[in-house]
Amino acid sequence: MRVIVVGAGVTGLTSAVCLAECGADVHVIARDLPLETTSAVAAAWWYPYRALPQDRVMAWARRSYVVFAELAADARSGVVMRDGVEVHRTPQPDPWWRSAVPDLRRVHDLPAGYVDGWSFRGPVVETAGYLPYLHRRLLQAGGTLTRMALGCLPTGGDVVVNCTGLASRALVGDTELLPIRGQVVRLSQVGLDTVWLDASGTSPTYVVPRSTDIVVGGTDEEGSWDLQPDLAIAQEIVVRARRLVPRLAAADILGHRVGLRPGRGCVRLERENREGASPVVHCYGHGGAGVTLSWGCAEEVAALVGYQNSRSELSSVPRSAS
Ligand SMILES: Cc1cc2nc3c(=O)[nH]c(=O)nc-3n(C[C@H](O)[C@H](O)[C@H](O)COP(=O)(O)OP(=O)(O)OC[C@H]3O[C@@H](n4cnc5c(N)ncnc54)[C@H](O)[C@@H]3O)c2cc1C
Repeated sequence: MRVIVVGAGVTGLTSAVCLAECGADVHVIARDLPLETTSAVAAAWWYPYRALPQDRVMAWARRSYVVFAELAADARSGVVMRDGVEVHRTPQPDPWWRSAVPDLRRVHDLPAGYVDGWSFRGPVVETAGYLPYLHRRLLQAGGTLTRMALGCLPTGGDVVVNCTGLASRALVGDTELLPIRGQVVRLSQVGLDTVWLDASGTSPTYVVPRSTDIVVGGTDEEGSWDLQPDLAIAQEIVVRARRLVPRLAAADILGHRVGLRPGRGCVRLERENREGASPVVHCYGHGGAGVTLSWGCAEEVAALVGYQNSRSELSSVPRSAS
């Protein structure tokens, strides 16, 4: 079966890998190559943030957790399992996604000013290594990736898969999609290996250590299309991050990045039959959780295309995708 996937962010690439490894003849078309996408800006910690509906998000997040934990065994994937701590200023019940992780524990030794919190071990996906890893896996399975900006979805192919994120607003006229602007600052590594999150303010404060740097955030500006980093906001982010993790006082600022999360009331993952054209499987609107949901969604995309057994294919990570 010939499948055209539009979009080479984490959603498009993961879907393409999944389909190609199931035996489909997959061709990815994208305006921006993987490292130029919103997905490349993501922090990208496993955390179901600003994506609905809860029941489907829970299933996709749980499945992705399992696949990422397997991928972490291969250093070339860019996936690293790390301890993460979420802290709160008021007592909280367990998070709604609690059963998606194997080992959530209450934390009692909290930083000053916090009264509740929990920790769990979860994947940090280092996108600079991970997106090229997915691209290699796609090529290995016989797929292709071509840069091309489309004015509308293609009509050819046996099936088209639409993974264009926020751009689906213009491409398929989905006005439910709105940008949620996120700004982050890259700091130098100072020996930190635990992820920290304080989601209690108007904007979340997070600290995500990676192999060679630390990403700190963030902002959450609904409706803003501005891709320019704001240096006053950056300064305020660094102050918040240093308050949460005082060791960051020793870290230097390496750079600034902004991305527009594809915000939508609910993730759109469904098949649409078009008169006189090939059917489309839409998969977009993942908000702040596109990485977190990527494998669960990709398997459902493959099933909607017609490959029901994608899960068993994926549980073995090909050793050759180096
Ligand atoms: C600051 C920040 C931090 C984040 N942190 C996290 C995190 O910790 N964990 C997490 O899970 N998520 C996080 N996210 C959210 C995550 O980045 C998104 O949900 C995810 O990137 C969406 O991926 P996508 O593949 O659907 O879209 P994108 O990455 O935007 O990719 C869309 C693709 O479609 C292509 N395209 C668009 N229009 C056209 C066209 N007309 N023709 C051809 N191709 C087209 C683009 O070129 C691109 O290749 C964060 C986001 C931001 C901004």
